[in-house]
This record gives sequence, C-alpha cells and structure tokens, in this order.
Amino acid sequence: MAMSNEVTISDGLEYATGSTYCPPVTGVPLFDIQRQMAPLRSEIDAATASVFDSGQFILGPEVKTLESRIAKFCNSNFAVGCASGSDALLLALMAADIGVGDEVIVPSYTFFSTASAVTRVGAKIVFADIEPKTFNIDPTDVARRITNKTKAIIPVHLFGQCADMNTLCNIAHGNDLLLIEDAAQAIGAEYQGRRAGSLGDMGCFSFYPTKNLGGPGDSGMVTSSDERWADRLSLLRVHGMRPRYYHQAIGINSRLDSLQAAVLNVKLPHLEKWTEMRIKNALKYNQLFGAAGLAGRLELPTVEIVGRHVWNQYVIRVAGGHRDALRNYLKEAKVGTEIYYPVPLHRQACFSDLDYPNGSLPETEKAAIVTLALPIFPEITDEEQQYVVQKIAAYFESAPQVN
Ligand SMILES: *Cc1c(COP(=O)(O)O)cnc(C)c1O
Repeated sequence: MAMSNEVTISDGLEYATGSTYCPPVTGVPLFDIQRQMAPLRSEIDAATASVFDSGQFILGPEVKTLESRIAKFCNSNFAVGCASGSDALLLALMAADIGVGDEVIVPSYTFFSTASAVTRVGAKIVFADIEPKTFNIDPTDVARRITNKTKAIIPVHLFGQCADMNTLCNIAHGNDLLLIEDAAQAIGAEYQGRRAGSLGDMGCFSFYPTKNLGGPGDSGMVTSSDERWADRLSLLRVHGMRPRYYHQAIGINSRLDSLQAAVLNVKLPHLEKWTEMRIKNALKYNQLFGAAGLAGRLELPTVEIVGRHVWNQYVIRVAGGHRDALRNYLKEAKVGTEIYYPVPLHRQACFSDLDYPNGSLPETEKAAIVTLALPIFPEITDEEQQYVVQKIAAYFESAPQVN
C-alpha cells in the first residue's frame, strides 16, 4: 500500500503545476487545516515521536526552542509559552498586578477572552468603540474613558491588522498605563516596520488551530522586551513555584506542552510564506470583486496603517440587511463563512451588569450586523476564490430587496 501514498503526492503536484485536469470546485471551506498539515506530515510525525521518546511532555526543550524563535520572529527579547491565548492575556494582567479596584480598557468587538481576562483578575472591564474601517479600538474613545483607576489598555489587532498603536502609545505614556497587545490574530503583522508583540509592554499570542500559526490543539505565548515581565510571567504560569514546591506567588497552571511546541517548530519556518499567500489572496479577492462589479454592493476590507496586514480573516461588510441571507445562500453553495462577531461583548448576557445599553457603542453594534468573513486560508486556489465571488454575484443578481 506504499504506492497509494505516492499516487496522492504526484496528484497534488499535477494540480499545483497547472496540469490540464482540474477538478471542478463544488464548495470552499472556511478553513482547511489538513491542506496545510499534509505536506508537513512526516516532519510533524518525526517531531512528535521525538517528544514521546524523550518523555519530556511539559515545558521541554521544544518549548524553549519555540519561545526563542517566536521572540525573534516578533522582534521581541523574550517569549513565555503558556496553555492558550486566553491564558496569555490572563497571565499578562496577573504579571502586571492588575486586580480589584483597577480598570482596563478593551474593545467590545473582539473574541471573548480579551475582556474576560480582566474580570478574571478582579478588575473592571471598560469597553471602547471601534474605528469602522479597521474594526480596531478607537483611540479617541479610549482617551474619553480613562479614569484615575485605569491601569491598562488592551488593543486587539483584529483580523490581522494592527491597531493605531502610535496614538495608543501616546495615550498610554501620557497616562502611565500599560499597553498589552492582543495579537492572537496577528502574528507577523507589522506596524511602521515593527512587529505585533513588540509594540506594547507585552504581546499575547494564540496558537489555536485556526490562527495564522496554528498547532494541533491549544497553546499560547506572551512576548515582552522587558526581562522583568518575562520573569514574572514564567513564574506565574507554574503556580508561582520557584524552586520546586516553594511558591513565591499565587499563579496558575498554564504550561505549554512539548507536543504542541514540537509541531509549531515544524510549522514556524513556513509562516512567512503562508502570510504572503494570505496577502496575495486578499488582493485577489479585491480584484475579483472589482471585476464582478461588486465593489459598490459590498464594503471590502482595507489596509489603513503603514504596515503589514496578515489577513487572519478577510471580512466584508454586507449592508442593506443582506448579510444573513447572503450567508445562507453561500451555505447552500457550500461556501464556509463566519460572523466575527454576531454579539458584541458589551451586549453579552454575562456582562449585563456592566450596563452598556443598546446604542452605547454604535460602530461596534453596526459592525456586528454587517460583517461576514470569507475563506482566505493560504492554500485556497484561484478557482476556489472565483467560486466564492461568483456565488456572491449570483446572490445579488437574484436577491430580493431586503431592508
Ligand atoms: C483566539 C483569540 C484569543 C484566545 O486565544 P485561545 O488560544 O483560543 O485561548 C484571544 N483574543 C483574540 C482576538 C483571539 O482571536
């Protein structure tokens, strides 16, 4: 049966080199993790086998290697591995000693853990609105919400584009606040020549499978260029234990396991190439939507900073009440899409006590009604992108007036 393997590989090569046989596209998934893993499978198997052979499953040499390589990749001096991106945020706030009586300003238009980490340490969440073009936190609104209890701002580099860090840095410095980047969607993103994770005091990353650098499970990392933060983070992720069974602080168990790190070490050397593929795919969509005459019907995502957008997501705005109907139409056509995020955090049931009524963050609320993420994983083919755009065009050709 060794032969069947070879057949598969040569088939793949034929498609890649543009042979005449090209299977017709009948659907496009939102992500295709297998397509990325398959060519690396034997390297991954060898790397994980070596972890099994070593028996060092927790914080082993693979974790140290990954930490130093991620630090370097992010132009940061240090990186501390942990169990998830959510824990990275929690550990950053714990390291900064933020807790009861403190306030932390976060966007409401983000994944849950940007905000929940604040509540978890006992501090108060203060939600700020977003800038409509980037979906990132609006520095003007941040400035308005600072009080004498504010200790930190957590900008999120949403969808892979850095927040307005110059303005946020000025606000943070002027008010003696920490700046903790939520860079979970933005590994490799750049802002005026500097990388995400090196733009604030600490940078929080996730290696959840669908992030730009995704592992086969959960893991995360915090970057910092200040050794004191790095030291504190590495203490807190192991229950504040130093040396063994002597506890200096009350930390948590958030160790990074070696199997995750081993796989990420195999994948990291490919990240630049995958990022370039994502950028190319974004440009391709812009071009295809333009050619299909849809640029006016939809609002396409734009790069609003001097820097590099890494396109963890390609998110369009579909106005006029068409978003959900279009999404259903695409589902019928087997095109995977997602809504990031249907309910902004300030309107979530669990945060109702924070008392942000409907209308309190208008740009955030508007975005939640119109955004739709399309497939943009690195390996998506031109034909698949054409299929997505054709289906969207077909929807608008037959769409009833919705309002
Ligand atoms: C994914 C994500 C996280 C959380 O990362 P996990 O590894 O899933 O815990 C935090 N913030 C943002 C913006 C994310 O996209």
